[in-house]
Amino acid sequence: MVRTIELTKRQELILDIVKENGPITGEHIADQLNLTRATLRPDLAILTMAGFLDARPRVGYFYTGKSGAQLLTENLQRIYVRDYQSIPVVVSENVSVYDAICTMFLEDVGTLFVVDQNTVLVGVLSRKDLLRASIGKQELTTIPVNIIMTRMPNITMCERDDLLIEVAKKLIEKQIDALPVVRETEKGFEVIGRVTKTNITKAFVALGDDE
Ligand code: ADP
Repeated sequence: MVRTIELTKRQELILDIVKENGPITGEHIADQLNLTRATLRPDLAILTMAGFLDARPRVGYFYTGKSGAQLLTENLQRIYVRDYQSIPVVVSENVSVYDAICTMFLEDVGTLFVVDQNTVLVGVLSRKDLLRASIGKQELTTIPVNIIMTRMPNITMCERDDLLIEVAKKLIEKQIDALPVVRETEKGFEVIGRVTKTNITKAFVALGDDE
């Protein structure tokens, strides 16, 4: 962009801060310059009107020299599992396939995580795992889930501080619908959340709204 107007030293500083840290709120720019938000307001108004900066409600100021794709990539690098994870639904490894099916309906989820008596993750149950077990002539109330579940160490997991985009890649790569969010303890992995395709879709919609 050709700068046709003369910027003050402070306006140049603001541009540098936004280039480096954008999207950034007026409040945070003011903090970095040790000034009040009110003092900065005229400078931000000039920079925005001149087209150097773009302001988005609830997001902050962007440097307009960046392409939309660059901004999208940067925003994606700021979304973590902890921002979108849901509460996990777990069952004990001793419950029957019948009870697991009931839990799946009652809790309205598509994936159950199976834990041992120490609440450590031992398996995953999907809708199709339960359907497959139901096709045969077995008595569903007598088959424990631990004989049909996908078990450790073959479980794909994530942590709350992982990037959501990395989880999305794993869901695609492994062709699965959900990942448990775990915390490592001395006993094993404790389930503290879940990320499903629905969570990813919510993040996608939120990104679109910001754009
Ligand atoms: P569905 O089988 O209902 O289509 P998924 O695609 O999620 O649901 O599951 C496919 C298979 O992968 C199932 O056998 C399931 O046990 C297994 N699975 C699901 N989630 C995971 C996971 N996070 N890690 C490992 N295996 C999984």
